[in-house]
Amino acid sequence: MTPKKVVNKKTPRKLDEVIGKISGKIGEDKISTQKVDLLSYSHDYWPISLHWMLEDRYPSIPHAVIWPENKEDVIEVVKWCYKGNVPIYPYGGGSGVLGATVPEKGGVVVDLKRMRSMKIHGKDLLVEANSGLNGYYLEDELNEKGYTMGNIPQSLYPSTIGGWVGTKALGQFSTKYGGIEDMLKGIEMVIPPGKELCLKPHARTSTGPDLRKLFLGSEGTLGIMTKGWFKIWPEPENRMKLSFASDTLEDAVKSVRKVMREGAEPAVIRIYDKIETKRHFYDYDEIFGKVATVMVIEGNEKITQAEKKIVKEEFVGTEMGEKPVDHWLETRFNVKEAAEFVPMGVVFDTIEVAVNWSKAINLYKNVVNAIKPIKGVLFASAHASHFYPQGICFYFTFAGTPPRKKDAEEFYQQVWKAAMSAVLDSGGTISHHHGIGRQRRDWMEQELGEAYSTLKSIKEKLDKKRIMNPGNMGL
Ligand SMILES: Cc1cc2nc3c(=O)[nH]c(=O)nc-3n(C[C@H](O)[C@H](O)[C@H](O)COP(=O)(O)OP(=O)(O)OC[C@H]3O[C@@H](n4cnc5c(N)ncnc54)[C@H](O)[C@@H]3O)c2cc1C
Repeated sequence: MTPKKVVNKKTPRKLDEVIGKISGKIGEDKISTQKVDLLSYSHDYWPISLHWMLEDRYPSIPHAVIWPENKEDVIEVVKWCYKGNVPIYPYGGGSGVLGATVPEKGGVVVDLKRMRSMKIHGKDLLVEANSGLNGYYLEDELNEKGYTMGNIPQSLYPSTIGGWVGTKALGQFSTKYGGIEDMLKGIEMVIPPGKELCLKPHARTSTGPDLRKLFLGSEGTLGIMTKGWFKIWPEPENRMKLSFASDTLEDAVKSVRKVMREGAEPAVIRIYDKIETKRHFYDYDEIFGKVATVMVIEGNEKITQAEKKIVKEEFVGTEMGEKPVDHWLETRFNVKEAAEFVPMGVVFDTIEVAVNWSKAINLYKNVVNAIKPIKGVLFASAHASHFYPQGICFYFTFAGTPPRKKDAEEFYQQVWKAAMSAVLDSGGTISHHHGIGRQRRDWMEQELGEAYSTLKSIKEKLDKKRIMNPGNMGL
């Protein structure tokens, strides 16, 4: 199996000189060129890069790994790398699933995890945190002080807030709390050639275009985030659990659309198609052959009571009580399927996309029907995991074994290509929350059109030498 792009293993000119300069400024204990570190930072959770590892191949390794401890360190790193044309790959938890941190052109990986302090501003309902702070530690500390940020991705344990902003992530409770774009109120960045930029966390501002948004989802291609200010909430006083079994996906989707239209916002809503209902709720005979929906409603007592009433009135399906929701809550961080299947030679991945309500069922059918007939595919299924008054996120899962004469990567790309084409043809967007990375970059232009050229111009202006995560998102 060959990597998708031939990797430029050439040592960037002046690399040793640049590393020497940085080491002199920030201290040599913050830099490693040891093989064990270079190999550890050669991949993220992108199945292609994990496959390289299983085959003991390392086509994309950095020349050095740097662990800055403060903003001043980051400025030195960007300044000297810019001078010496050395690529930089900002790195949080490395839990990205699309190869966004894979150092395909060599250079330095900058791991921000030593920058992890946080401060709660309770009166302003804000938390100020360094970008390398781990998501679990952030939420745990907030909970201890009676707050929540409400961003609970399935990767809460291995991801950082810099990665959340970088990929425009969101969590399981997004229908109430929103995505990271709704939480980010202020940002501090270091951009080429080593300048600091800070946008303060005002309640609201109309001082020109909002550049915070420019960095959301920029995946390390425009600079390094060093700090952020995020909206927080008092911990909810009430939590309710509801579940339903519906005859069809259409019934469940229509029910949630009506609930959202009424203005109710259950924090968690997840609708599983029939295949995924069997996979996730195997202990519940009553749900077998049906479409399961689980919901968590939380917040102020009076508001949650009103939301529960709306849900019960609108939902088409049989109420299944709290148990399926408890099961979901207990297993929601479980990712053992991928860990078990992949070493057995099964190609397994997920693809999350979004679409407006009017095209939702059509898109679901088109994507499943595009993947299923591919030779070697064992199953293609989906659940809907995030909802808006305007539409829905479908999270597709596929598994298969490559037919003879086809290698795993070729098979994997064939499925992705079929899925991406079906999404675009059905009027959807190719990514809902994982971002673009190196896996989705070939479809950026098709979705964005002229906006992609504009993005390239912005990149050109901010990072003339293209040192920031070169190649990621095709930039
Ligand atoms: C099991 C599993 C479950 C997941 N569940 C979810 C989910 O529920 N919701 C979701 O949204 N995603 C999910 N993901 C995807 C992934 O966890 C997210 O994309 C997460 O935001 C990545 O954070 P990270 O700190 O690991 O970033 P990394 O993977 O290290 O980096 C991701 C991107 O952000 C950039 N970046 C990182 N830090 C900085 C910084 N300080 N400044 C500038 N750029 C930076 C990197 O260069 C890269 O482009 C899941 C992944 C896995 C493996």
